[in-house]
Amino acid sequence: MQIQSQVQLRPFNTLGLDAVAAYYVQVHSAEDVVRAIDFAETKQLNLLVLSGGSNLLLPPEIHALVMHMHIQCIESVAEDVVSQTIRVGAGQNWHDFVLWTTTQQLYGLQNLALIPGMVGASPVQNIGAYGVEVGEFISAVDVYDRVLKQFSSITAQDCHFSYRHSIFKDNPDRYVITHVSFRLLKTADLKVSYGDLKAAMQDELTAENLQKQVMLIRQQKLPDPAQFPNAGSFFKNPVIALSVFKQLAVKFPDIPHYPQNNDQVKIAAGWLIDQAGWKGKQLGPVGMFDKQALVLVNYTGATLNEVKATYQAVQYDVYEKFNIRLEPEPVLFNDSGLIQVHLD
Ligand code: FAD
Ligand code: NAP
Repeated sequence: MQIQSQVQLRPFNTLGLDAVAAYYVQVHSAEDVVRAIDFAETKQLNLLVLSGGSNLLLPPEIHALVMHMHIQCIESVAEDVVSQTIRVGAGQNWHDFVLWTTTQQLYGLQNLALIPGMVGASPVQNIGAYGVEVGEFISAVDVYDRVLKQFSSITAQDCHFSYRHSIFKDNPDRYVITHVSFRLLKTADLKVSYGDLKAAMQDELTAENLQKQVMLIRQQKLPDPAQFPNAGSFFKNPVIALSVFKQLAVKFPDIPHYPQNNDQVKIAAGWLIDQAGWKGKQLGPVGMFDKQALVLVNYTGATLNEVKATYQAVQYDVYEKFNIRLEPEPVLFNDSGLIQVHLD
């Protein structure tokens, strides 16, 4: 394990922001994690866990130790008639792991193909796509607990998974995730409730075809970060009270909406942004993508401040038109390496 100083993180975040880490280390094992934390504590530095860098916003200078997650392994740890449990290192590439499960005829994760990032980040925001959330298939998350200073295993139930949320979001400086265990099914239970996906599948209802169609749809619709640096959906879909929705629908009868539990309704944030005039629109070097208005793109070497100027302008215009405040999805770090609340 080698700790380096003054390391440029632009290649390690998909939005392509310039960000120099005062200290940087790649960790390849659970032991490396403890050694890196000891170093940070000795130097009185905060710790920033960096994985695939596809869901975060970094400032130009970070006075902290950036721990870059590289723990890799895939092992079968349990099996019964209907399922097999696979334990995976946090630094394993997510999409490659999904493809591997399909080749092993293990099912559940196919709707989540082509999501960028690493396995260890998947429980953090309970990644989801096309009606599936990863929390449905996680059995346990192995962590180093920085408060108790010990390794432990957190059951899925104790992770408190909800829509793009988990205990890891509630306790950002407490856990370093080292491994995730997935209980995958031997017989596929296909989820094809999303319109685009259902139409694309036609009559070939297999998990392999489902995965293929998810990949094709995503490749057509979403910008490749290598060409158009981005952090995926920039805002969460707002979930509002049914009573508020009913008032809104009087004025905007076409508003795409999806009823949730407890008298709540999910609204498509991309539609709100489009209606507010931001689809394909730029403010300086940063804009909302023309094929999917929910994705913010850094077109030409923007700074974090320029990214903030654009997303705050989008928030303002959506609020003016719909009285709905959009909440950014990517995690924002400050120059001490701590997670910050997004401000208006
Ligand atoms: P990072 O961005 O590196 O980290 C994200 C957060 O998790 C940070 O706070 C980090 O500190 C923390 N973290 C990461 N790893 C660990 C660890 N091992 N221990 C403790 N904390 C950790 N998301 C979806 O949910 N669904 C999608 O369909 C989707 N599509 C996307 C498409 C594109 C083109 C892009 C760019 C992003 C998309 N995302 C999507 C967002 C993103 O890919 C996911 O949130 C992904 O899980 C982030 O993984 P990462 O490895 O890049 O994490
Ligand atoms: P889409 O299919 O055009 O749908 C637009 C929005 O409506 C989605 O955000 C989705 O909410 C919601 N929706 C559509 N059909 C639904 C249904 N049958 N039931 C409930 N909600 C429905 O979305 P898209 O932009 O092409 O993305 C496809 C999937 O990939 C979505 O699940 C999306 O979340 C995911 N994705 C996520 C990111 C990210 O960075 N977080 C980036 C790209 C794609 P949900 O978002 O709640 O599913």
